[in-house]
Amino acid sequence: MIAPILDVRNIKKHFQGGSRTWLGSKQRVYAVDGVSFSIARGETLSLVGESGCGKSTVGKAILRLFDLTDGEIYLDGQRIDQMPASSLRPLRKKMQVIFQDPYSSLNPRLRVSDIIAEPLVCFGVVSGRKDLDREVGSLLEKVGLPRESAERWPHEFSGGQRQRICIARALAAKPELIVCDEAVSALDVSVKAQIINLLADLQRDLGLALLFISHDLAIVEHMTHRVAVMYLGRVVEIGTRDEIFHAPRHPYTQALLSAVPVPDVSERRQRIQLKGEVPSPVNPPSGCHFHTRCAYATERCALETPVFRDLSLSHRAACHLLDG
Ligand code: SF4
Repeated sequence: MIAPILDVRNIKKHFQGGSRTWLGSKQRVYAVDGVSFSIARGETLSLVGESGCGKSTVGKAILRLFDLTDGEIYLDGQRIDQMPASSLRPLRKKMQVIFQDPYSSLNPRLRVSDIIAEPLVCFGVVSGRKDLDREVGSLLEKVGLPRESAERWPHEFSGGQRQRICIARALAAKPELIVCDEAVSALDVSVKAQIINLLADLQRDLGLALLFISHDLAIVEHMTHRVAVMYLGRVVEIGTRDEIFHAPRHPYTQALLSAVPVPDVSERRQRIQLKGEVPSPVNPPSGCHFHTRCAYATERCALETPVFRDLSLSHRAACHLLDG
């Protein structure tokens, strides 16, 4: 069996909060509390959920921007969560990132050519000035920008064009996996669609794996292979695009989907209004974290954490309603 490009096993990230409990100890923030999934080569997995559910923390943990509280992360078969920085450096080439804000992601003091050249030189992708210029030009064309953009400065571009430059820089290292952390959230609606289409084309043409982190389910529908839905630090449902969009089984997924606009009136779902906001990860509700907002909650839901049930080979959800 071919190893997945990314394998995340029961990862937890608990931060020490600023405030103290009444006993004087520092509060813990349960940002990520036992998340597992894997991504095959050439596959797009979308990690979705409301703001504050921990999805971006998962992305940052995979990028090793901090150490885990618990769990394991494997990149291309190698465990990376405890790897020293020196051993991790060559592996970083395999995994690149595109962040949300294309304005702060680009160094305003560097020309576009230097921004894209940096990973090319750093990871030894090219040797010599001629190759470097050729490769920068070819990357710009791949993301739909003219070669002449190389000599311009970031401030001369619109938000969508800057995000294209960020994508070109991410592609420069010839990665196998790109983590897209809310990569289109800051863009206008029409530009969002263009960037999503570009990512989907690149994913298909280059055989890339994408971890697409988004608070917006509607955005991922047409470009993802699988979806993992997160609620308050935990994945509550995971499945193929069709399973999640056409046969969701977890009440939280059903509520999220009911808010997604569909063009065909006959397919429109009845809107499920969730009560209140996502509770604080400082003191998450007992049992099923979703019980304070779930229309189907029973006494058991506040007492017992639901375990994952297999609904098909690819579809799993954690809800007591699914117990046979
Ligand atoms: Fe709702 Fe209970 Fe299922 Fe949680 S376990 S989603 S509270 S029914």
